[in-house]
Amino acid sequence: MVRTLAEAYPDAHCELDFGDPLQLAVATILSAQCTDKRVNQVTPALFARYPEAADYAGADRTELEELIRSTGFYRNKANSLMGLGAALVEKHDGQVPPRLADLVKLPGIGRKTANVILGNAFDVPGITVDTHFGRLVRRWGWTAEEDPVKVEHAIGELIPRKEWTMLSHYVIFHGRRVCHARKPACGACLLAKDCPAFGAGPEEPQAAAKLVRGPEAPRLLELAGVADELDEKTVEQAAAKEPDA
Ligand code: SF4
Repeated sequence: MVRTLAEAYPDAHCELDFGDPLQLAVATILSAQCTDKRVNQVTPALFARYPEAADYAGADRTELEELIRSTGFYRNKANSLMGLGAALVEKHDGQVPPRLADLVKLPGIGRKTANVILGNAFDVPGITVDTHFGRLVRRWGWTAEEDPVKVEHAIGELIPRKEWTMLSHYVIFHGRRVCHARKPACGACLLAKDCPAFGAGPEEPQAAAKLVRGPEAPRLLELAGVADELDEKTVEQAAAKEPDA
């Protein structure tokens, strides 16, 4: 299944735009309860206004809140960003530390965010257990654990360490585009023949293809072996839909 996912999503990556570890930490904090697309609309102005940790530490709260307002929960997020900036200046010379144990002590950064930062800004392998990752690995029977930290450890035992970061991207990409929470697109899924949960969503290809979302849809439907059974409009409409948040 991992090989099939790697073939399906060769360009899988962190969908937040960033240029350095601080920017990724900030974008990840903003992405709570918000789409990556929305965060990416907000961050260019934010990163230009606050290039360093010290800039967040000394930010004017009203101005910062205004810049991030559209991502939701902006008061809490402003608190986290200002607290993060202050903690980085105070304890880490203004730099984002490259260690899980240090990252999780920073304001606004839990284990999931820390793993995103490690894997994508520092090339330290990390498994990101977000809602998509947890749902899919449970559906696939890779673990029955519900707790994200237990899921992380269970999957870490199954998959070689050097593959952890990319595995996280593959699984999250698949969860956003095909294996949705409520109605997975089983009948148009490239993992159908290997998946123990096949049938959790519609099995008929035309109905299932309507559930696939994202610009990669034509290729995903091709890889699933159902493209020939579908009308052009269904494929076009799937490609025009935004992947799930
Ligand atoms: S077959 Fe269905 S449950 Fe299995 S991965 Fe595909 S969409 Fe998800």
